[in-house]
Amino acid sequence: MIRVTVWNEYRHEKLSKGIAAIYPEGIHGAIAKYLREEPDMEVRTATLDEPEHGLTDEVLDNTDVLIWWGHMAHHEVSDEIVKKVQNRVLRGMGLIALHSAHASKVFTRLMGTSGSLKWREADDNERVWVVEPGHPIAEGLGEYFELEREEMYGERFDVPAPDTLVFISWFKGGEVFRSGCCYYRGHGKVFYFRPGHESFPTFHNPSVIRVIKNAVRWAKPVNRLEKITFPNVPPLEK
Ligand code: ZN
Repeated sequence: MIRVTVWNEYRHEKLSKGIAAIYPEGIHGAIAKYLREEPDMEVRTATLDEPEHGLTDEVLDNTDVLIWWGHMAHHEVSDEIVKKVQNRVLRGMGLIALHSAHASKVFTRLMGTSGSLKWREADDNERVWVVEPGHPIAEGLGEYFELEREEMYGERFDVPAPDTLVFISWFKGGEVFRSGCCYYRGHGKVFYFRPGHESFPTFHNPSVIRVIKNAVRWAKPVNRLEKITFPNVPPLEK
């Protein structure tokens, strides 16, 4: 079983009736519901306003893949929890950063860059092109999929060059964006996936859910470290 924790700051849904109508159980609730359709995934959720943001040592130690959605309250995430998440990723836990998580503390800490980008909230349509069709995250997708309405994110996206770029998005305003970026960090894997603005039903889109499910399987730990050490060792050969 892959143990997944879906983390959401869960503020927009409480502040806006329109957003609550799209995500009555919160964005985390919607994503968790779809992931629970998979027999190989054991899913829990965690939110910002829970003690320790719902990410206690016990939860993190029992999480194979952490999914992160945050936006308006990035600054409220405690640095101590961010450090713990970074440590777990370096030891093998997978992280999937969704949409506005480009500016989250956990993602920027793991990237070492600002995560800045161009943006526009104007109902652009988005065409997500699969540029690495042999990659496990692209499984079951065609050449591209489309989202009728989304927020635009445009280059330059201030991230390190991805180890593998799986998707490029095009928007009707003419912008393009590296919208599916894979990284290795220590023993862990990080996937950034662009779509998912809170006021659109993006997390009910079957292609988007397919990508997230594929990404969970890709990001699950292969070799997990108990602890990061710096051992002094004798030579193997005499
Ligand atoms: Zn957004």
